[in-house]
Amino acid sequence: MTKDKARKEIESLKRKIEYHNYRYYVLNEPEISDYQFDQLINRLKELEAIYPDLITKDSPTQKVGGQPINGFKSVLHDPLMLSLDNTYSKEEVKEFDRRIQKWLDAKPAYQASLKIDGVAVSVRYHGKKLVLGATRGDGQTGDDITENIKTIRSLPLRLLERSRVENLEIRGEVFISKQEFTRINKDRKKNGKPTFANPRNAAAGTLKHLDPQEVAKRGLEIYFHTIPYQIFVDIPSHYETIILVREAGLRIIPNTRLCADIEQVLAYIDEWAEKRTSLDFEVDGLVISVDDFKQQELLGTTTKVPRWAIAFKYPAVQAVTRLRDIVVQVGRTGRVTPVALLDPASLSGSTISRATLHNEDEIKRLDVRIGDSVVIEKGGEVIPKVVSVNKSSRDGTEKKFIFPRSCPVCGSKIYRLPNEADYRCPNSSCPAQIKRAIEHFAARGVMDIDGLGTKLVDQMVEEGVVHNFADLYRLKKEDLTGLERMADKSAQNLIDAIKRSKTRPLDRLIVGLGIRHVGTHAARLLVRYFGSMEELSKARFDDLAAIPGIGSVIAESIINFFADESNLALIKELKRLGLTFTANREAASDYLKDKTFVFTGELSELTRQDAHQLVLSHGGKVSSSVSKKTDFVVVGKNPGSKYKKALALGVKTINEGQFLKMVRRNQ
Ligand SMILES: [Zn+2]
Repeated sequence: MTKDKARKEIESLKRKIEYHNYRYYVLNEPEISDYQFDQLINRLKELEAIYPDLITKDSPTQKVGGQPINGFKSVLHDPLMLSLDNTYSKEEVKEFDRRIQKWLDAKPAYQASLKIDGVAVSVRYHGKKLVLGATRGDGQTGDDITENIKTIRSLPLRLLERSRVENLEIRGEVFISKQEFTRINKDRKKNGKPTFANPRNAAAGTLKHLDPQEVAKRGLEIYFHTIPYQIFVDIPSHYETIILVREAGLRIIPNTRLCADIEQVLAYIDEWAEKRTSLDFEVDGLVISVDDFKQQELLGTTTKVPRWAIAFKYPAVQAVTRLRDIVVQVGRTGRVTPVALLDPASLSGSTISRATLHNEDEIKRLDVRIGDSVVIEKGGEVIPKVVSVNKSSRDGTEKKFIFPRSCPVCGSKIYRLPNEADYRCPNSSCPAQIKRAIEHFAARGVMDIDGLGTKLVDQMVEEGVVHNFADLYRLKKEDLTGLERMADKSAQNLIDAIKRSKTRPLDRLIVGLGIRHVGTHAARLLVRYFGSMEELSKARFDDLAAIPGIGSVIAESIINFFADESNLALIKELKRLGLTFTANREAASDYLKDKTFVFTGELSELTRQDAHQLVLSHGGKVSSSVSKKTDFVVVGKNPGSKYKKALALGVKTINEGQFLKMVRRNQ
């Protein structure tokens, strides 16, 4: 193919892809299958690979994220990105309308749109091309986050050709869906990273990440709501303008409505009060704005807020119930957390009987007492929290809670570091810590000991059958059959499962040790750099901290861990018992030699990386796309286009269970 022909085909492919993105993301009405769409992308990639100089910045293939950056440049907003005045009742909304009518001496139409609880951004297109993305900052100056915002899949790098929109400044909200939020937190937890408190924090943290490739991995989304000034002389209505912008390929907040008067706005408020909770993104209210650009201009702004728009906020999802008792729990790292036990209450669809009280300071701040009527709230967090106390309904029988000064499990005096809100139990042989540590050690994705769950671990520690990880590997059947509900056969199964876990690779063992801040990702890095437990245990702080992705906090934690005599003794024991202490660089077998695997969909037992590792360790290969040469396509939940392609090409498909059987046959 000549370069000229390629250039033409590339251009035509881009147009097609942009159009189908619009059908998919904006209209929710795809015309072609995912498979057909992937074909277009693949063809474009193919041509761009042959002629790399034909790759343009606005090509749909350029959404994977560029090079990491050192920081963000500042951007001046013109016009300013003002925040809005908040209202909390319909009465205040009516008052807003009365003010507007008085100033305008006219009855304005309003645009009403859902207010997404995300991060406000401004995006600029010039000559149809995306040229700038910026955070709100202080409203006057924000950060240039163009490289990060470009990775958002639903945000076109170029507006549709047929649209009359050429240059555009538009404001919107970047957010993370509830589903994606859950996925990200699950992932972070698994990797020993702190979880995000709510989807908004997750979105904000992601947008300010310095590595666009990392940003691209998180499912950021964007919806637009405001065009700050009139762009077509013949269209005075903001609503009509934004509909035109939608036809240019940008996602507008769903269900945005033009209301002829304030009565229709109030009806809209009622309509979405309940319905908003069924959406896959957090909506905390509405934005109500005067629709006519000329009227907006007449009304102008105060120094802080526009006069022509306000936000209406719905009350948060809350429930009132009685606090029966407060208990404290001790976690794996010794952290002592107070938990409120509640009369069961229904909260956004689920029954709640526990809520976190975070720490002693929070109990004092709330002045919460046992027997109080409390308001609980569910935000983005998994565990609901107590947000306030109905002090007026006290009858004098409520009791103050005295925060314990010693560990409720082992009795050690608990301590609190100057900069921390949490108390910790200092006793590393505290049964509560041992229980949670062993549970973590045995967990799926760590040492993967089948059948060793919370209840059994509790029992084993309480009965004195095990005191540490090493004890697990010394267990005999007789030790277990004495336990409650432990039959001969299940005892043997457990012992077999424990024995099998000896072969888990070194990085899993390192995660299992429960060194603070060391999760899956860090453990893999450590194995790559040090190759063995012995080398790792001798590592110096500077060497550790210098590893990209480790840093000083993790380094310090590792140094502290290996400085502890009892930890060293435990590790020595584990080595003697035959656990994996060196990186497994050679293949475990060549059982899958010359076999190529492709994975699609979510696996339930394995992470993707572990699945890949398994294939590699048996001499097989992993590919990212299906072709005639593929031997097996492993199909998980919600498989993508690769599954369809496998069927079309007649490639053998297997499920996760079959895959596991296949690879474990040789262990
Ligand atoms: Zn303790």
